[in-house]
Amino acid sequence: MLMKAEQVEVVSQIRDTVKKVCEEYGGEYWREKDRTRQYPTEFVKSLTELGLLASLIPEEYGGSGLPISIGSEILKAIHEFGANAGACHAQMYTMGTVLRHGSDQQKQAYLPKIASGELRLQAFGVTEPTAGTDTTSISTVAERKGDQYIVNGQKVWTSRAEHSDLMVLLARTTPKESVEKKSQGLSVFLIDMRDALKNGMTIKPIRTMLNHSTTEIFFDNVPIPASSLIGEEGKGFKYILSGMNAERILIAAECIGDARWFIKKASDYANERVVFGRPIGKNQGIQFPIARAFSQTEAAEAILDKACALYEDGDTSGTYANMAKLLSSEASWASAEMCMQTHGGFAVAEEYDVERKFREARLYQIAPISTNLILSYLAEHELGLPRSY
Ligand SMILES: Cc1cc2nc3c(=O)[nH]c(=O)nc-3n(C[C@H](O)[C@H](O)[C@H](O)COP(=O)(O)OP(=O)(O)OC[C@H]3O[C@@H](n4cnc5c(N)ncnc54)[C@H](O)[C@@H]3O)c2cc1C
Repeated sequence: MLMKAEQVEVVSQIRDTVKKVCEEYGGEYWREKDRTRQYPTEFVKSLTELGLLASLIPEEYGGSGLPISIGSEILKAIHEFGANAGACHAQMYTMGTVLRHGSDQQKQAYLPKIASGELRLQAFGVTEPTAGTDTTSISTVAERKGDQYIVNGQKVWTSRAEHSDLMVLLARTTPKESVEKKSQGLSVFLIDMRDALKNGMTIKPIRTMLNHSTTEIFFDNVPIPASSLIGEEGKGFKYILSGMNAERILIAAECIGDARWFIKKASDYANERVVFGRPIGKNQGIQFPIARAFSQTEAAEAILDKACALYEDGDTSGTYANMAKLLSSEASWASAEMCMQTHGGFAVAEEYDVERKFREARLYQIAPISTNLILSYLAEHELGLPRSY
């Protein structure tokens, strides 16, 4: 547990480190990757070498054992200084499934290598084309045959699959009709994708409006060792849910970083751009949206801080993690919209980076969880309203 003064010092050092890395990979680097839809290998390598992606892994497994509030600061800074952590943020937190529910043997075998970057665990195969948000209706199955499971089915939006060695996979091991509750009978596996690719697994990239290396994956009788099972068979849904709060908090931090980038970019431009013989920032019509986006961002960050504190105290309710994600993604989008408008026509010119960041910021109201589902959670769990689905 870090003391307050220590925490301030660590955050300041981390922000300096991240800033230096982001300065090495400036706008032109990201523009080129975006244009050609290439993975930012060099940027990810730099973060890995600095140990930043291993910050949440306990020290006994080779990580830095830092709390989620510091993990959030890393991602926030990456986005604030103009880069994008979407290519590698999952290397930070997908390991949580192994850490919380894996056997000692699995933890010893994988976590130190994930910490060093020798193994990349940044693919998370949950969403399916027909089930969508209704996760318990997934139809990918893993059938036990001797000392193996045989996997059949399809995943969609499995991001970074082509840049990951391992994948956390959710599959049904008992048919929905044979379980009391549909959340039962789902299991989590840690799959070695390098082997699976030789044995019936196919990855197909999906071209999207942002450079996110996302894919669809097909499993055609893919054998995986029975030892790939994480925890107990049939309890996988619970294991997946247990990682959601961390993911929401960390994505919220990225949104705050994006919002800060837009606010700074817009303020700088509003001071520089002269029309009618004065800077456009002199007009309140330009000032007020910037000030409003700033206020929204500060408010969202306060909720994010509270979500981090609750998480670090062991609170497992999703209320603040969900609210942090909701408010931060809305603050970043409001900032993106404001920044676009402030820049007028130049907003759509590639070289200003505004249009790219604008496309990137929009994702976070949809993934990893959509705004509606967060509102449904709050309505049901905080306000006692009937479950709507
Ligand atoms: C770029 C990208 C990367 C992603 N990466 C991953 C990944 O790595 N791994 C992974 O497993 N998934 C990933 N996802 C999937 C993401 O989590 C889902 O897209 C998201 O959860 C929404 O599911 P869906 O797209 O099927 O929408 P649907 O479930 O079809 O929903 C469509 C719309 O209807 C709304 N809706 C649905 N049901 C309700 C309801 N009951 N009440 C109110 N509104 C409702 C939703 O909010 C949404 O707005 C990614 C998605 C994208 C776009």
